[in-house]
Amino acid sequence: MTFKTLRDFDLNEKTILLRADLNVPVQDGKVSDTTRIDRLKPTIDYLTTQNCKVIILSHFGRPKGQVNPEYSLKFLPAVLTEQWSINVGFGSDSQENITLLENLRFNPGEEANNIAYAQELASLGDIFVNDAFSTAHRAHASTTGITTLMPSAAGLLMEAELKALTNALEVPQKPVVAIVGGAKISTKLSVLNNLVQKVDYLVLGGGMANTFLFAMGKPVGKSLCEKDMVDEVKSIAAKAKAANCEIILPTDRVAVREFKENAPHEIIGLDHIEDDQETIDIGPQSIKDISAILDDAKTVLWNGPMGVFEMKPFDNGTNKVAQKVAALTKKGKLLSVAGGGDTVSALDNAGIIDDFSYISTAGGAFLEWIEGKDLPGVVALKEQASKAA
Ligand code: ADP
Ligand code: MG
Repeated sequence: MTFKTLRDFDLNEKTILLRADLNVPVQDGKVSDTTRIDRLKPTIDYLTTQNCKVIILSHFGRPKGQVNPEYSLKFLPAVLTEQWSINVGFGSDSQENITLLENLRFNPGEEANNIAYAQELASLGDIFVNDAFSTAHRAHASTTGITTLMPSAAGLLMEAELKALTNALEVPQKPVVAIVGGAKISTKLSVLNNLVQKVDYLVLGGGMANTFLFAMGKPVGKSLCEKDMVDEVKSIAAKAKAANCEIILPTDRVAVREFKENAPHEIIGLDHIEDDQETIDIGPQSIKDISAILDDAKTVLWNGPMGVFEMKPFDNGTNKVAQKVAALTKKGKLLSVAGGGDTVSALDNAGIIDDFSYISTAGGAFLEWIEGKDLPGVVALKEQASKAA
């Protein structure tokens, strides 16, 4: 089953309802990161060249179904106008060709996926275009309900995201390497269980690697480690073995006595650690081991930093591995896809954010997708396409 794209429709002079994710970060009244705005521009440009009228639908924060000026999107058209160099109006009375509507979540019908509210939205346009992959894991009126009422397509951003994710995990070139790090294994059990069945190598770093090492009988000192997760670790390891997925654990680690930036540190092996030490990054030998695996890889999927990248120099492991993936990607040797809130910051910190094949900024939806879940917003587009065919 597949979904329709902008190229499947005659869009000329149509009114498009464009579901976007303009839930932008705001600090001191200013948009602090315009990534979501910038990424939407190709779709806006495409629709403009097709003489479309565009009504942009977005949520902003969590007003919980109530009108709340604190969560109004009124401030945003001026920012969009500046970033896109095209006039953007606000609200249902706007006369502009491109208009942003007020926060969808002011209406309780949005999150309840109320069909009357979906109908209200649908009545405003001819074709629904979804470019908000980051909300695709939610079944809301503007992501699923509306697709049952009108012709629907993925926008250019959604299309690119789905293509990258599909090429990384559904129909990847082998060998496929998944790199998973971050703090806790308990938040990533479904991710690990899904990935071991799909990839050739699962490289583990970060705090969750400690839990694996602990399950193997290695000492972890006062490192972050979820000792109650040993059974889960063993079950993941067994599943990996059955699926021919090799789990790669660190062979050395960076240990500190104080959890702070520039703390005195030493490189230690796996067999010994002092009780007052904790490990907060992977060591140089681990970086070499991972690099060797990457040298033969065709596809890399990454979620979660290798260490506490927020404190220097403990971003070293994450940086070195990220730079290796970036260099191989630039040489055309592999397809690299990464995602996750902290992962995006970590790769940005490593200075290579533009050198991966694709970086997903859709935190929750990206994670649910690598957990192997169907995303309601994507399923809805596919179902609409199969009905229309
Ligand atoms: P994402 O948001 O990309 O899914 P996570 O939230 O799972 O990533 O993990 C990010 C966090 O993991 C970071 O705040 C980082 O400091 C932490 N982390 C990584 N390695 C360790 C470690 N060895 N000990 C403690 N925390 C760690
Ligand atoms: Mg996180």
